[in-house]
Amino acid sequence: MTESAASAETDFDIIVVGAGPAGSTAALVAARSGKSVCLIERGTFPGSKNMFGGVIYGRVLDSLIPNWWEQAPVQRWVTRRGTVVMTPTQSLTVDYRSAGWGEAPYNGATAFRPDFDAWLADHAVAAGATLVCSTTVTGVSRDSSGRFSVVSTDRPDGDLSARVVIACDGVNSFIAKDAGLYPHAGDTAHFTLGAKEVLALPREAIEDRFGLVGNEGADLEIIGCTGDIAGGGFIYTNLESIAVGVVLRLSDLAESEHRAEKLIAELKGHPMVAPLVRGAELLEYSAHLIPEGGYDAMPTLGAPGLIISGDAAAFCLGGGLWLEGVNFAIGGGQAAAEVACAGLDRGDDGIGKSMVDDYRSRLEDTFVLADHKKFRNAPGLVLSDRIQFRYPQLVCDLLEGVFRVENPEPKPGLIRLFFRTARKSGLKMRHILVDGWRSARTYG
Ligand SMILES: Cc1cc2nc3c(=O)[nH]c(=O)nc-3n(C[C@H](O)[C@H](O)[C@H](O)COP(=O)(O)OP(=O)(O)OC[C@H]3O[C@@H](n4cnc5c(N)ncnc54)[C@H](O)[C@@H]3O)c2cc1C
Repeated sequence: MTESAASAETDFDIIVVGAGPAGSTAALVAARSGKSVCLIERGTFPGSKNMFGGVIYGRVLDSLIPNWWEQAPVQRWVTRRGTVVMTPTQSLTVDYRSAGWGEAPYNGATAFRPDFDAWLADHAVAAGATLVCSTTVTGVSRDSSGRFSVVSTDRPDGDLSARVVIACDGVNSFIAKDAGLYPHAGDTAHFTLGAKEVLALPREAIEDRFGLVGNEGADLEIIGCTGDIAGGGFIYTNLESIAVGVVLRLSDLAESEHRAEKLIAELKGHPMVAPLVRGAELLEYSAHLIPEGGYDAMPTLGAPGLIISGDAAAFCLGGGLWLEGVNFAIGGGQAAAEVACAGLDRGDDGIGKSMVDDYRSRLEDTFVLADHKKFRNAPGLVLSDRIQFRYPQLVCDLLEGVFRVENPEPKPGLIRLFFRTARKSGLKMRHILVDGWRSARTYG
């Protein structure tokens, strides 16, 4: 970091780095408050470099873009949510469907990030933000008052100044690290690698295979499909393609012989998945890090003149039952812009440490930090060895025992079957009781 001379005049009130969901939301909110805003994006257009699973939970947009569902570029409205537990040859699906999720205001939608991110950034531009694409921020520096106010870019003479910088540069934030705010950044146990294939299938095949009608969509979250690596898998339906992928704990992946693409191939060959992807043509392969460490692995959320938001602040919620990052990024970006604008209105004192304190309290009052705090133990629980590698086998073997008919043998009693299956899985009663208690405390 370099020291630059303090200037009374800055190029913008606010510079937002990164035009993902967090950055575009921050730019939108700040521009609507009448601030001059520059939104800097390294891609050729917002979303051009971005990928996710994925499902967007849009209710967080209700107050920002009323009736957003009438204009947001979505693929399908998710009406079917399946949780799948599998072993290499077995699977159990808890299949939830809701007709209500197929009607406004909807619950979740599959979408393509280049479409969605560009749409959200267009709203920021329409509100008055200046969008600068194909420009990479290479550093942030303090002025002589100690506030972060200068943003360096890869353009010749590309330094820009602002009274507040909002860093929304995504997972493993270069800016948070550069500013010395991210001590956990190097800990691979706090990150997962998400990898996915997009597979083309005719619309009718998708609707037949997943039991969907019209623009209904399905979301299947899977546990037990990642070999000796802690993680999970997913299948999402788009209009004329499906996304099949895995999420892998980075520290395990580094030690394992497995590769992400091999695990996706195995998932596609699983007896439960193979009929869903039969004949599909590979359109695209992509991979990206996810900050799944949760509440205890977040960076410091800012410093004088600087706010960190979205994945850059590790706001993505990945507690096994959920993988929600876009809605948390939007909620985080909104809070960042609101406190920055309020701080700017108070003058220089308003954009120092008090702005960061306000930001934290604002987030704690909303779902962004409230959910993370409530489920702070979820990442550790879900990625623990027994949940990942023992329970899927136990659950599938138990069901196998219940449903298999072995006449002339009489049926075993369910309690006896349970103890027999648990013994075979290597799980002790005390493990099951401890994990049951931990789960109740984690999610209760
Ligand atoms: C495989 C996978 C599956 C996922 N599934 C889901 C899902 O189903 N639902 C869900 O809600 N979330 C999901 N997520 C998480 C979600 O994608 C993220 O939480 C969300 O994108 C975070 O938004 P963001 O704006 O903070 O960061 P990003 O979306 O990462 O945006 C950051 C932006 O900053 C830009 N940028 C970065 N560095 C610079 C720089 N130096 N200069 C200029 N620009 C820069 C990038 O190009 C990018 O546009 C998934 C993630 C992955 C990887």
